[in-house]
Amino acid sequence: MALWFERAWIDNGWAKDVRIGVADGRIASIETGAPAEPGDERHRVALPGLCNVHSHGFQRGMAGLSERRSRPDDNFWSWREIMYRFLDRLTPEDVAAITAQAYAEMLETGFTRVGEFHYLHHDPAGDAYADRAAMAGAIAEAAAATGLGLTLLPVFYAHGNFGAASPSPGQRRFLNDIDGFSALLDASRAKLSGDANMGIAPHSLRAVTPDELAALLELSPTGPVHIHAAEQVKEVADCVAWSGARPVEWLLDHAGVDERWCLIHSTHLDANEVRRFAASGAVAGLCPITEGNLGDGIFPAVDYLADGGRFGVGTDSNILVDAAQELRALEYSQRLAQRARALLAGEDSPFVGANLFARAVQGGAQALGVAEGFAVGHAADIVSLDLDHVAFAGTDDATLLDRWIFTARAGAIDCVWRAGTKRVAAGRHVAGDAVAAAYRACVARILA
Ligand code: ZN
Repeated sequence: MALWFERAWIDNGWAKDVRIGVADGRIASIETGAPAEPGDERHRVALPGLCNVHSHGFQRGMAGLSERRSRPDDNFWSWREIMYRFLDRLTPEDVAAITAQAYAEMLETGFTRVGEFHYLHHDPAGDAYADRAAMAGAIAEAAAATGLGLTLLPVFYAHGNFGAASPSPGQRRFLNDIDGFSALLDASRAKLSGDANMGIAPHSLRAVTPDELAALLELSPTGPVHIHAAEQVKEVADCVAWSGARPVEWLLDHAGVDERWCLIHSTHLDANEVRRFAASGAVAGLCPITEGNLGDGIFPAVDYLADGGRFGVGTDSNILVDAAQELRALEYSQRLAQRARALLAGEDSPFVGANLFARAVQGGAQALGVAEGFAVGHAADIVSLDLDHVAFAGTDDATLLDRWIFTARAGAIDCVWRAGTKRVAAGRHVAGDAVAAAYRACVARILA
């Protein structure tokens, strides 16, 4: 099979008249300046699919349920109580149905792979399922049903706060000791298919002791390592009280943070942390829509990018799933904080949209342990834009990605191929109706 595009985003720029051959889910050939051949499917613009570096799929089902003021000081911690009550009721079948809806939406908006930060492991009583990886299986099922690429990140969670504090009852479904987690990793690996891969996710320095962190890194000596860090001011203060160091500072000092690491949020950084984090080669897992929704704070992206820091974007709580809107929210957060414009441009890349997209493609792929962009041998993960969409009226190459990210609403994406299979056509997931019907039935039952 071959796809032909007027333009394709290759090596951080536009190539013209691009013919992409696909075999066994991978890119078998790339010709530029090539005419379409009979039988080629023709489209206007090809972008490499983005990696969504951070998702909790089941949280899609509680989107919109936490926007009501319940007390004068509503914050992340009161949101977390609502989230714990919601997940209390979920079965593996529920998680499969809700997660599939989130994954279909990811594909429809230009994500082709997700890093699923998976912490809901046990039954409602807090006991392991007979199949210890039943919940991981539900996530793999959602990925298979929608075709989204999966990087499964089983979460190790053992404590309620810094200093090995006891977990709360609301956390009982997340908990493992190291032996239990090792068994969970083995059982989870057996659920994966296709080009799914796996890493590990120590939940946060609140939930994991230094000894446990060292044991986890021994259990998983290669592959992605993701951890929530410095999302909340209270978390930073608690970490300083516990260790004398801030969370990202502690990780940089003690955890061997390097290219395999992705620090999720890392919102609250001092100037020294920004410089050291950027130099580490690790990826910042930024989730601007969720961070805004939860009132986390603003990541110091201008300084971090100026220091060469790497980032990917994630949809985290899945309150609203949209790749372009994550990039837009990231830029707008900086503009609002600094009262200035066009802040996340690069020195050689003055167009903000193109710079954000190129960096998110690179950082996202690194964070999920896969190859980035279009090249022979890479997964054929391709997003086509509909240049007839009104947002692209009169567009040129230079502003095309700015128009997609800053001006287009849903509908700018035409087709999405994931591992060479077309999963989105005319802007809609090909199984979207069935996935949505199962989701509606599931959520209606849970909330009844
Ligand atoms: Zn998260």
